[in-house]
Amino acid sequence: MIRKVKTYANVGLEGHEIIVEADSSKSLPTIEIVGLPDTAIKESKERLRATFRNVNIELPKRKIVLNLSPSDIKKVGTSFDLPMAVAILLLIYEEKISLQTDEFLFFGELWLDGNIKRVNGLLPCVISAMTNGYKHFFVPEENVYELEYVPGITVYPLKTFQQIVEYFVSGKAFSSIDQAKDIEHLYQKNNTHEVDFAHIKWQLLAKRALSIAAAGLHNIIMVGAPWSGKTLLSKALPSILPPLGFEEILEVSQVYSIVGKLSKETPLITKRPFRQVHHTASKISITWGGARLTPWEISLAHKWILFFDELTEFPREVLEVLRQPLEDKSVVISRVSGTIQYPANFMFVAAMNPCICGYYKDPEKNCGCSYMDIKRYQAKISWPLLDRIDMVLEIPRENIDRILDNIKWESSESIREKVVSAWRIQQKRFIWLNITSNSQITSQHIDELIPLDEPCKNFLAEAARKLTLSTRIVHRTIKLARTIADIQGQETVTINHLAEAMQYRSKTMFVEAE
Ligand SMILES: [Zn+2]
Repeated sequence: MIRKVKTYANVGLEGHEIIVEADSSKSLPTIEIVGLPDTAIKESKERLRATFRNVNIELPKRKIVLNLSPSDIKKVGTSFDLPMAVAILLLIYEEKISLQTDEFLFFGELWLDGNIKRVNGLLPCVISAMTNGYKHFFVPEENVYELEYVPGITVYPLKTFQQIVEYFVSGKAFSSIDQAKDIEHLYQKNNTHEVDFAHIKWQLLAKRALSIAAAGLHNIIMVGAPWSGKTLLSKALPSILPPLGFEEILEVSQVYSIVGKLSKETPLITKRPFRQVHHTASKISITWGGARLTPWEISLAHKWILFFDELTEFPREVLEVLRQPLEDKSVVISRVSGTIQYPANFMFVAAMNPCICGYYKDPEKNCGCSYMDIKRYQAKISWPLLDRIDMVLEIPRENIDRILDNIKWESSESIREKVVSAWRIQQKRFIWLNITSNSQITSQHIDELIPLDEPCKNFLAEAARKLTLSTRIVHRTIKLARTIADIQGQETVTINHLAEAMQYRSKTMFVEAE
């Protein structure tokens, strides 16, 4: 008789039901695993043998075939060990086990000593399975924390395979968790920020620009001399972002579950991500890679900030890989076995010096670079990438006298209130569209969503002619103006909003545009 045990496998954030079928036949005693398994699963034969040896159960002297179905989904990783072992257990004890395993899902990697080890990608599997009506999950004890806040499920934490044997074969009781923890204390625990805007003196234009960027999720590059405060301003940015909602927490945490970055200390991601990438990072560590085709920085920055400091130090090929996710808000991996999609809806924030010495256009220090040096230096940022940036902001060095001023500056909390109210306006505006912010409006919807009166149109047309702006840049200006109007709580976009939006597109720093 064929015995069946169920589990789930994730393809991107989507979980798919996988049925492990176990059958045996009169032949040489071997274990065979079929159904598009990867090498890690093939190696589980040894782990299965060792596990049964450890619980003193003799494997049948027959050929055991384990089929992972459906066969068109490639199965990667080690979480199939436990469902395969349970399927063999059912095969051995045949009629003795009357329990219906149909309603349970099993996840876990087996150690050679019979212990059960944590697996990656459990959260997306459980969430997908829940939407398909599953409520009971046998999972490694080391993974339990990531499910503790998910309501409406029963979790059976496992330390060893022995526990499963005792439960199924001897009918020993099993303690389960069926009450979700309150997420509130996690929020409070993580409600601190590295830098508050109140601690940054002056820089009023930069603060204003960053609040607009945060409100409409506009990509931004800050250009300025060394020690002008670009990095500090970037680090203050997370403090003015709206908090993550519960659905968003689950969505972001699923990505972190796949890469194995959830832990007892961080069971879920409750704070918007701020991922700072170093310029020595490889293309793979920024996009995706490894045998499991795991997402990296651009997906870990999903909702919200991907920060590149010293932008011009990054190799060209690394900057180029950003173009597709910046456009599509996701990363698509195409392989012979199919396509995997991961979310990558991030706000791109970067900082750079204007030239090699760093003092081009500085009011006090002389720049020692030649025109060609500056041109070559700035050309490291390609125009196609710049074209996807809504704001290029010049950050001037503050005068030392002003730094010593004793003025109380606006706190992050106060700025965040304005950002949140602009977000709410956008949520209402986009209720019928699959987007959340002004920066995501497509050219197809721009006229409808941001209607402009005649004076505004004339103003834009004249600016476009004078400054030879592309249609794309004009559209970005309109979207930015919409966010400025939203942050001021104004219903229509005016010339003032458009003029302010134009300020955030520095022409002077890029010699190409002179
Ligand atoms: Zn210079």
